[in-house]
Amino acid sequence: MKSALKTLREVNTQGKRVLVRVDFNVPLDKKNGEVQDMARLEATLPTIQHLIQEGAKVILLSHLGRPDPKNPIEELKLNRVAEAFSQCLGKPIKKLDQCIGGDVKKAIEQMHEGDVILLENTRFYEGEESNEETFSKSLAELGDLFVSDAFGTVHRAHSSTVGIAKFLPAYAGFLVEKEIKMLNELIENPQKPLVLLVGGAKIDTKIGVLENFFGKADAILVGGGLAPTFLYALGHEVGLSLCEKDKKEVANSILDEAKAHHVQFLIPEDVVVSETISESATTQNVSVDEVRPKDRILDIGPDSIEQYKKVLREAKTIVWNGPMGLYEFKPFSNGTQEMIKAISESKATTIIGGGDSIDAIRRFGYSLDQFTHVSTGGGAMLEFLEGKELPGIAVLRSKS
Ligand code: ADP
Ligand code: MG
Repeated sequence: MKSALKTLREVNTQGKRVLVRVDFNVPLDKKNGEVQDMARLEATLPTIQHLIQEGAKVILLSHLGRPDPKNPIEELKLNRVAEAFSQCLGKPIKKLDQCIGGDVKKAIEQMHEGDVILLENTRFYEGEESNEETFSKSLAELGDLFVSDAFGTVHRAHSSTVGIAKFLPAYAGFLVEKEIKMLNELIENPQKPLVLLVGGAKIDTKIGVLENFFGKADAILVGGGLAPTFLYALGHEVGLSLCEKDKKEVANSILDEAKAHHVQFLIPEDVVVSETISESATTQNVSVDEVRPKDRILDIGPDSIEQYKKVLREAKTIVWNGPMGLYEFKPFSNGTQEMIKAISESKATTIIGGGDSIDAIRRFGYSLDQFTHVSTGGGAMLEFLEGKELPGIAVLRSKS
């Protein structure tokens, strides 16, 4: 039994310097650098507003993108993020150009209760991703308490997510608390039937979830880039599809496990193929036996859509990660769009995660509040659903 999570509810933060790790790793417009999607900023508002109201001095930490610390490029500074977050919050915040050092300390000394400061991109420092103790310590010196509200990065053992907690009392913010509560309920006590719908690109990142759900799910529906890999493992022609041929054995052992667990494991019976990838591509709906060597499998076909919908209609809990096809192109978007429609219309508890899955929801005109829980973590959600204890969560548990 894991020990309890320490949360922000247990501590009085008035007058305290509170270091909050947030996930402000937002998509930026390539042309003008503006923040394109505010969802991650909005998701932390309950925590930040609570701290402001209590009279804490709020010091925010986040990474953005994957900068090389030796060459911290201008585009990955957090200035535009600070502007966008200030707008969300409805209050000016101060942005600093460093994470540690004398100037940062000075600025923090001058803070009043309820003030908010955002430090620079944590990944501008070598010590961040290597979880270097001296960097963690320098960060920790800036505050009295540490609050983790960055669910999207709790699967990474970095200085600002894990290392810092060695030197400060650490608590889960409201977003991390909510994510863990929703996902725990799903793992421990799901309403049945439970249906897992998985698509997307890389089988490696999904195997653990599939395996952890064999004992739990009543049905597992597979689409996206995973489908050709399974079809190939079963001996079908997959042409030029995205297919991880070296994962044939892995795919076969998953199929065997599914049988052993008596879980309904569906891979598409028909698919959308095309020889080219473009907005004007000519497509064909074919059975999985009719794929030719020049074809690419780019979406699930209409019969599979109907079959999957039928299973989804019976579900009391639906978990979805990963698009059913190359949804970024209209000719291959139907499977993903139809699955989103079915999930949004379902009365089941619906749990969704993954950057591209969320992008697809928006692209097809649905809103996130049409689902029970849309996780802010893609990789973090998948690893959590594998049943792993994530390093950024482990540090928030009371030591007993
Ligand atoms: P998420 O971000 O929701 O976890 P993934 O990153 O695993 O999803 O996968 C999303 C990507 O997979 C998308 O770019 C999508 O176009 C791609 N994809 C899905 N199906 C196919 C396919 N049949 N062939 C090629 N790419 C695919
Ligand atoms: Mg993705």
